[in-house]
Amino acid sequence: MSLAGRASRFAEGSRIRVSFEFFPPKTEEMERTLWEAITRLAPLAPRFVSVTYGAGGSTRERTHATVKRILAETRLVPAAHLTCVGATRAEVDAVIRAYAEAGVRHIVALRGDPPGGVGARYAPHPGGYENGADLVAGIKRLADIEVSVSAYPEKHPDSATVEADIDMLAAKVDAGATRAITQFFFENDLYFRYLDRVRARGIAIPVVPGILPVQNFKQARGFAERAGASVPDWLAARFQGLEDDPATRKLIAAAVAAEQVLDLVDRGVNDFHFYTMNRADLVYAICHLLGLRPEVKEAA
Ligand code: FAD
Repeated sequence: MSLAGRASRFAEGSRIRVSFEFFPPKTEEMERTLWEAITRLAPLAPRFVSVTYGAGGSTRERTHATVKRILAETRLVPAAHLTCVGATRAEVDAVIRAYAEAGVRHIVALRGDPPGGVGARYAPHPGGYENGADLVAGIKRLADIEVSVSAYPEKHPDSATVEADIDMLAAKVDAGATRAITQFFFENDLYFRYLDRVRARGIAIPVVPGILPVQNFKQARGFAERAGASVPDWLAARFQGLEDDPATRKLIAAAVAAEQVLDLVDRGVNDFHFYTMNRADLVYAICHLLGLRPEVKEAA
């Protein structure tokens, strides 16, 4: 699409909708960084902001605390992530009820990774929810809460085939999920090929692309290895030699992400979920490129 075509598309009254993902902070300094990011991104009026969830009591508490603070101090709609790892159904149900009582109306429901980390064999907790689909059903039984789930354009590493993966997505939709958010990917063709297969399977819910702006290439490559996402050679080449040059790295990261999201827009995508890594700058710039502008009344 020509630049003029793009400009008029964005001027149409921005049909672009975004959501932002954050992780709960571990230290006071990280808490400050997170809130700087939330404060900067809030005026872009995201549909929701999601907060990830980890195994273990302390990370769970941090998720709760972050979600509660978002509810108390901003007009943002929080989506609390929740996993089945290391907890009985009764324990997970107590978390669902606590979220509902706190005013949470959206949960991102996940199986989670095995306690031994990615690569270890996953075994459901004795008496726990078995997988993402089982958890979605549990949430829907307990509360009137919107549920989003994960989707994997390059297949989940535990999944034998893409078809098995899509079967799991279908089961999650049958259980009541109304949105899927994808693992990040760098080649848009992978997303569209996956989407074709999902639609061919009769799954009609939105499958929102998860976008990871590459703040740190080495770290992103590590995430990708664990998540079963591929890192194309052209991407590695773009960051090559910039290890000690953060300023140029940031410009390249913005260019790479801009290229990716603008291509997705050209191909009909209007919804984006950004893995912010609790940093606002790159995401803010990409949203600006997408035509989003601050709405003063929505400010945190
Ligand atoms: P499911 O949808 O239940 O399963 C994923 C796939 O694995 C299925 O398609 C299925 O084919 C296959 N599979 C599952 N179990 C088995 C099995 N026992 N044997 C064979 N195949 C199997 N993790 C966190 O800890 N906290 C978070 O907050 C978090 N947020 C996330 C948000 C998004 C948008 C995404 C994409 C991922 C997130 N994750 C998070 C990572 C996620 O927990 C892991 O990828 C986990 O390994 C799978 O969880 P799931 O809900 O996707 O699993």
